[in-house]
Amino acid sequence: MKISSQFDGGSIEVVSCESPDNIQVKIPKDNQSEFYQWFYFRLSGVEEQACTIKFLDLEKSAYPAGWKDYRAVASYDREHWFRVPTEFDGDTLTITHTPGLNSVYYAYFAPYSTERVSDFIASLQHSPLVDTQVLGETLDGQDMDLLTIGEPGEGKKVCWVIGRQHPGETMASWWMEGFLERLLDDSDPISREALAKAVFYVVPNMNPDGSRRGHLRTNACGANLNREWQTPSMERSPEVFVVREKMQQTGVDFCLDVHGDEALPYNFIAGAEGNPSWSERQADLQKQFTDALKIASPDFQTEYGYPLDAPGEANMTVCTNYMADAFDCLAMTLEMPFKDTVDSPDEEEGWSPDRCRRLGEANLNAILSVIPNL
Ligand SMILES: [Zn+2]
Repeated sequence: MKISSQFDGGSIEVVSCESPDNIQVKIPKDNQSEFYQWFYFRLSGVEEQACTIKFLDLEKSAYPAGWKDYRAVASYDREHWFRVPTEFDGDTLTITHTPGLNSVYYAYFAPYSTERVSDFIASLQHSPLVDTQVLGETLDGQDMDLLTIGEPGEGKKVCWVIGRQHPGETMASWWMEGFLERLLDDSDPISREALAKAVFYVVPNMNPDGSRRGHLRTNACGANLNREWQTPSMERSPEVFVVREKMQQTGVDFCLDVHGDEALPYNFIAGAEGNPSWSERQADLQKQFTDALKIASPDFQTEYGYPLDAPGEANMTVCTNYMADAFDCLAMTLEMPFKDTVDSPDEEEGWSPDRCRRLGEANLNAILSVIPNL
């Protein structure tokens, strides 16, 4: 039997792998960082053997609360991901699973490789609605891709949508597939209307290096990109630097930053309520957006989410807060669960790639509803 993780997005450290009933692993830290929570590895040579996989030392992981009521995902073909029995005792997470085939993959959430991002972007180029541009490169030398969808023009609103600042939050990439495929569907009336009134700038993957390296939260040098928006630099956070520069050229009326949350079993929006410049106009727009999204997707709700920052106390290095302040626009962070939605659970898959896609599609209804007022 063998465990391996030397592939795109792979991450695990083997402590013991001699006996199927006593496999022990640890989750490595992101490079030059203390964060650890993302795992993705292959276990082979264990067909029809009862496996017990213990993940050690999780009390100090990035989000210990994320392991409570969590079930890991597994896949034989890396297309269909299903949940497996998982328990957490406060420090050790234990997966018990008898693989039906010789080779099985386990992960924190359905992985989304940088190769798949590249394949997806390449496939979208065939649409006459899409213009692709490389804004710059990451510290590891990967491309920072921007998609421009629709034609900029007089009176058109400018909508920015970015995802995967935190690379382990792969649900953002599945969301992007649903969002972009619907936006480019020229028979979809919501998309046609949105593109008649707005141009979309989309960065499908803000953190290619962290994605390829199998990080939870940081880029190649350990920078948490969602704390770099006030003062990004080409040395530490070129990903944010080049995107922010382009935003300053285009102007911004709307900005949605797509994430996953380790602990909360809900889809929710986090806004810029703690900004000194937070306004009634921004609050009205945000309510209009979330009301429309609730109607478009019963998987989305507004009852549960992060506690609001006290007025004036927002962390201005966070994308949403920086954007709302710098552009006086509607800027929001969308969070999806790693676990499942407690109100509408799926026993087999939990929160899944397909459900992320559907939520991505539904976001277009909500965006169209606010465009006239942006
Ligand atoms: Zn995040």
